Amino acid sequence: MSTPSSAPQFAFPGMDGHDPDEPRTTRRGPTREELLEGLNEPQAAAVQHAGTPLLVVAGAGSGKTRVLTRRIAWLISERKAHPGSILAITFTNKAAGEMKERVEELVGKRARIMWVSTFHSACVRILRKEIDKIGYKSNFSIYDSADQKRLMGLVIKDLDLDAKKFQPGPVLHWVSNHKNELRDPEEVAGDTHNQVEEHYAAAYTLYQRRLREANALDFDDLIMMAVHLLQAFPEVRETYRRRFRHVLVDEYQDTNHAQYALVHQLCADDPELAQDAERVEPAELMVVGDADQSIYAFRGANIRNIMDFEQDFPNATSILLEQNYRSTQTILTAANSVIGHNKGRKAKRLWSDAGDGERIVGYVADDERDEARFVSEEIDTLVDGGGRAGDVAVFYRTNAQSRVFEEVFIRTGQPYKVVGGVRFYERREVRDALAYLRMLSNPDDQVSLRRILNTPKRGIGDRAVACVGLLGERDGLTFWEALRRADQAPGLATRSLTNIRGFVAMVEELQSMVEADERADVILESVLARSGYLTELEASDDPQDATRLENLAELVAVAREFSDDPVAGPSADPADVDAGLVAPGLGDFLERVALVADSDQIPDDDDDQGVVTLMTLHTAKGLEFPVVFLTGLEDGVFPHSRSLGDQTELEEERRLAYVGVTRARTRLYISRAVVRSAWGAPSHNPASRFLDELPIDLVDWRRTEAAQTRWGRPDLASGSPASMGTPTAAGRRNFSTAAARADAAAKAKPAREIPSLEPGDRVIHDSFGMGTVVALEGVADKTVASIDFGSEGVKRLLLRYAPVEKL
Ligand code: ATP
Ligand code: MG
Repeated sequence: MSTPSSAPQFAFPGMDGHDPDEPRTTRRGPTREELLEGLNEPQAAAVQHAGTPLLVVAGAGSGKTRVLTRRIAWLISERKAHPGSILAITFTNKAAGEMKERVEELVGKRARIMWVSTFHSACVRILRKEIDKIGYKSNFSIYDSADQKRLMGLVIKDLDLDAKKFQPGPVLHWVSNHKNELRDPEEVAGDTHNQVEEHYAAAYTLYQRRLREANALDFDDLIMMAVHLLQAFPEVRETYRRRFRHVLVDEYQDTNHAQYALVHQLCADDPELAQDAERVEPAELMVVGDADQSIYAFRGANIRNIMDFEQDFPNATSILLEQNYRSTQTILTAANSVIGHNKGRKAKRLWSDAGDGERIVGYVADDERDEARFVSEEIDTLVDGGGRAGDVAVFYRTNAQSRVFEEVFIRTGQPYKVVGGVRFYERREVRDALAYLRMLSNPDDQVSLRRILNTPKRGIGDRAVACVGLLGERDGLTFWEALRRADQAPGLATRSLTNIRGFVAMVEELQSMVEADERADVILESVLARSGYLTELEASDDPQDATRLENLAELVAVAREFSDDPVAGPSADPADVDAGLVAPGLGDFLERVALVADSDQIPDDDDDQGVVTLMTLHTAKGLEFPVVFLTGLEDGVFPHSRSLGDQTELEEERRLAYVGVTRARTRLYISRAVVRSAWGAPSHNPASRFLDELPIDLVDWRRTEAAQTRWGRPDLASGSPASMGTPTAAGRRNFSTAAARADAAAKAKPAREIPSLEPGDRVIHDSFGMGTVVALEGVADKTVASIDFGSEGVKRLLLRYAPVEKL
């Protein structure tokens, strides 16, 4: 790609995945000089190194990946290595594809047969060939996390374990940790210390047996089984040791123990095989990485793998790269300064001769919407100045934070793509929540109704659904009507009938909120609480479920902001809202969301010059962009709240900050919001401690908190950020309407007293009859009571709406 001469200085070439410095040679083989062209001395040494294991350690942007790629070309072209004898490991499939392409450009099509892949893909290839030796068939399935959960759920049931104490998520997490450490069920079962561990171990054993019966492997098995195969069968090991003469690993700092062991099996001296007269020399190994960029400890990555490389491979050679070619000195100084606050790390002297460049731009926003608006306006300014939106990346700590950027970009017509995450409105939990709302708003929507009928699981299985469906067909009823008359459904089991009646009662209760014109966010919160959806996620230790909770909190925030904003209701006349007559209702909210989701179509990669890239910091590893916005720099957001009290986790967050800052080539923006919504409730987050770790003189603060306080601090006790007067929002939002809306909302609420209950109290419910209170959660109008109705079972009821009376 060529850079237009009018391009501003941030429009660097190279974003098409092709490095303009790379020689493009295809037909004839490249010359030595071409292969070493554009490399500095230590880089060239790493490319040419032969023999001993090689470790390239270096800070971000110093050309580690470039050296690794160039070395592959060198091996094929200069050292006449057969492409099939090369195994190169990258962290993502995308990175593998790019690396392969680059090598192909250099040495031609024969490069195609080399293995450039992730650890997981490489192991699948080995296993497809060899797994029959350990009793699986080569057409084994690979279970994703949903399959895993379903299976573990069954295992827990079969073992008669207490379903409350033993949830699939946490048990699987525990199993995963053991697999990453290469501990099989027998070993784990032989090393338990208490009853809980014994149960976990039993679950692991049965889970593994079930996997085997299903001829299936989970994600962690792929690596563990491959290692076990190599360890257990010397002839298999020898085959692959003979085959792979060169092993190269990028991002070595993020390997876990199992991955380390795989590398070891292929590349370390092998005393067992050494007995052989025709002994195979170990493969040549090259690993590259940066201990400061290790950010996957929660998935078992072990930073020691890179730190101890020289001990693990005693004759290793180390090469240090110190020149950074990616960023300006300003960006680099900022990154070095932040990471310098981690203890016990090896200091690096990373420098750049790209010049100081622009200062970092800082912005303190009133709330997350204001932050997104700032980002959007800055991008406009950059583009007006001749830059390309495609050069811009926006980073955030958690997936849920993408939503507000997506909305602002949709509104302003700025094309964007979200990398490495399902788009917000396509996420399963968001779809589930919206399905509830749709079904409440329109009970005839049987697609939504069927989607949530047994989500979360409430004992209404396929058979029951079929029986109800039959009744509907026979009597010409909609699915919802048939559900309400389920007692007439032919062949329905008593237990299913009970469960369906519980479901119908819950829906009717929630529908009464819709009839009372309750606000969308209030209905949504009740749906999540009352359906058991939240409880299920909260009880889980699975990090994915934590993400789901964040996304739902985000959706509640959307609904709340929508309900607070009179102009948001597409069919509501703002004048009516001002008069306290109309508040945007649930139907308006659903319409709005549907429109957002429909217009959420963006051009594909081939035309991404105008497309802004959104991604989490974790996804950004290894990438680079001319312009980077690092957003949400707030204590509790980034660093993540989980890490605040824990030095080790905090250091991992700091490495993540280092990764983020060092993705930027010429321009870096940092921002935070004074108030951010979570669960629709505004939370006031202090500035991220990482901001204090930046040298003051490097940052040009466009707006500080001081500027914000001049306008008066938001009154945190009185509602959502949307209703707060803010300098940028003041023109758009009107205080008196906010007050009128609050009034209208209050009027719309059904005037029902919440019975004050305690465990042990006897109550009566309109449909379930007499019951005893077992437990209470939540406070005030969010109180949920678990009530035992004898033969009807234990129900969780939102007291504000449930027709329950204390006896
Ligand atoms: P990270 O730690 O982020 O993975 P890295 O060390 O792998 O970074 P690369 O991505 O290989 O670094 O290189 C960073 C940038 O510097 C790339 O744009 C690359 O093309 C460029 N680069 C690397 N070495 C040189 C060099 N000797 N001359 C010019 N540009 C270089
Ligand atoms: Mg790299």
